[in-house]
Amino acid sequence: MSAASPSKFLATFWGTRGSISTPGSSTEKYGGNTPCVSVQHRDSRIILDAGTGIRPLGLEVGPELRAKAPSPQHILLSHTHWDHIQGLPFFEPAYIPGAELIIYGSPQKESFLEAILRGQMDINYFPVEMKELAASVTIREVGDQVISIGDVQIEIQEQVCHPGGSVRFRLEAEGKRIVYATDVELNAIFEPPEPSASMDRLATEYREFISGVDLLIADGQFTTEEYETRKGWGHTSIPLLLRVASEQGVKQLAVFHHDPERSDMLIDALWHEHAPEYRRGPSPMNVFWAREGMTVEI
Ligand SMILES: [Zn+2]
Ligand SMILES: [Zn+2]
Repeated sequence: MSAASPSKFLATFWGTRGSISTPGSSTEKYGGNTPCVSVQHRDSRIILDAGTGIRPLGLEVGPELRAKAPSPQHILLSHTHWDHIQGLPFFEPAYIPGAELIIYGSPQKESFLEAILRGQMDINYFPVEMKELAASVTIREVGDQVISIGDVQIEIQEQVCHPGGSVRFRLEAEGKRIVYATDVELNAIFEPPEPSASMDRLATEYREFISGVDLLIADGQFTTEEYETRKGWGHTSIPLLLRVASEQGVKQLAVFHHDPERSDMLIDALWHEHAPEYRRGPSPMNVFWAREGMTVEI
């Protein structure tokens, strides 16, 4: 990866697919790896989720980490569903002596984050156990709070409407802000079947969290029609996401966590159907469908 120019965020998509990886010729444009986004700011690299996309990221940064005193790799997990952690055992820096992985996740789960991550490397599932990794691994459970990595302040907020829960992150440095908010069913919050004070509160929290951000990376897994038969699955319909993001003055919106059934051709069709109306007007929003390998400079 090229070095970040001073004071810029460089957000790179390594995995954009939701639920399960989808290799094959019909997904090669937008990619088949499950969620992983790296955000570089000065010398700090912050990794959002450890889906299968973290493997190519590790292969890219591994040689650099081997060549010099390795800097800590900060990995923020939105939650521990398979599609967000499954790449972790294949992350090259985990096998570099002297490297350091610092993994952050929510404490509000039924078992400890460390037990969950160690569990997926149990000998029954994977040949190398976590304790055998060459890198040092630190696991930090973090609640609704602000953490600092380099010059980046990161705010964390629980997202309720996803089976088992998830968290979203807002990264801020030098006045620029990126929000990563995947795996949340915004339809349950913004269009509840009946009026609900708790949903109103969640809607306000979400609006405030994304308000005016430079880049929002957000769950847009379903079309309106698909959502009708997938209520309670914990994902959002595209038109609702676009409407709320636009109302909150989001500058760029990366629709993310693509449905595994979605071919490149269908994603292109969704862009043509939805993007133009949001790219016009007095405060245009640049809407795009996140594509593996793409880097956005903020
Ligand atoms: Zn997911
Ligand atoms: Zn999930």
